[in-house]
Amino acid sequence: MAPQREWFEKDYYKILGVSDTATAKEITKAYRKLARELHPDANPDNPAAEDRFKEVSAAYDVVGDESKRPEYDEARRMGPVGAGLGGGAPGGFGFGTGGPGGGQNFNATDLNDLLGGLFSRGGRRGGGPSRGPGPQRGDDLETELHLTFADAAKGIETSVNLTSEVGCSTCLGSGAKPGTAPVTCPQCNGRGVLDDNQGFFSFSTPCPQCAGRGSLITDPCPTCNGTGLEHKRRQVKVRIPAGVKDGQRIRLKGRGGAGRNGGPAGDLYVVTHVAPDPLFGRDGDNLTLVVPVTFSEAALGTKLKVPTLDGAPVTLKLPAGTSSGRVFRVKGKGVETRKGAGDLLVTVEVAVPTKLSKEQKAAVEALAETFTETPRDHLGV
Ligand SMILES: [Zn+2]
Ligand SMILES: [Zn+2]
Repeated sequence: MAPQREWFEKDYYKILGVSDTATAKEITKAYRKLARELHPDANPDNPAAEDRFKEVSAAYDVVGDESKRPEYDEARRMGPVGAGLGGGAPGGFGFGTGGPGGGQNFNATDLNDLLGGLFSRGGRRGGGPSRGPGPQRGDDLETELHLTFADAAKGIETSVNLTSEVGCSTCLGSGAKPGTAPVTCPQCNGRGVLDDNQGFFSFSTPCPQCAGRGSLITDPCPTCNGTGLEHKRRQVKVRIPAGVKDGQRIRLKGRGGAGRNGGPAGDLYVVTHVAPDPLFGRDGDNLTLVVPVTFSEAALGTKLKVPTLDGAPVTLKLPAGTSSGRVFRVKGKGVETRKGAGDLLVTVEVAVPTKLSKEQKAAVEALAETFTETPRDHLGV
């Protein structure tokens, strides 16, 4: 990951509540405490906590990473704006010769472009190999989740099992054998990049000795061979919101495969499969239900008891002269989502008996005698 504009604007130490001289251990401890408190699982439907969680994660992603932290410190030393130096455009960033960076001679209007180019470490930029050195975002993963019709409609907290790369449990992802620590790379002094002065500009290239990490592992962890990753079966909690549809992809940010070399984790996509219900159907947030009635019920009107998804039946007043196919709306008995509840749409279907007793046949024939016109008169044939 290249240094970002945010690095110049955000105080990650402050966000984590630690001083900028805090040890890696103190930073990790502060981060874990905050992450536990602010985790979305512990704060459902709390956007403020979610934002804070993201902020804290982003901060730890940088200062909790022994290779990115020196870069971030360096970026902070250069200051947010080289005011009065080099003549940067308003809103731009200008670092003139002899600026506060001491030997960093930049003059750029687009800091992201410049730094992106300077610090790019192969892999994800510029057509390099997809598994280059330096921090790599973890894999995006996809898994499937089968839900009953009712669980999909009402929402459910459940979990999915999957096998993926996770931070190594032996070395906690550092890649170093427990009891040892990665050492600062002597070639780049932990910066991960080497300067290459070309006149006015100073370009940087990834350090070849540490592959841009800024540190070297002298004693690799035996479990993960220094990769910091383990292939493991794990369980991920999933909160399925009410009203998910069949085939919906739910994104769980940061729950995918673990990042490499301190990169962020990928995302996990959960694809839902909703089983059909023998009675109910779904039309968006509305539930649908077909209720057969007899001809006499439709003709004379009746009180119809219909089931609902949450169990308690409701009574529907069928007026006299109800046509087959007429839809009745039972308000609020559909899928209850955060936006509100849908309705239950009841379609009345007149059931025609396939067999009539002698008496019934006689009665229907007598009824037919009383009809002087057919409902097809308008066809004119
Ligand atoms: Zn390990
Ligand atoms: Zn190095």
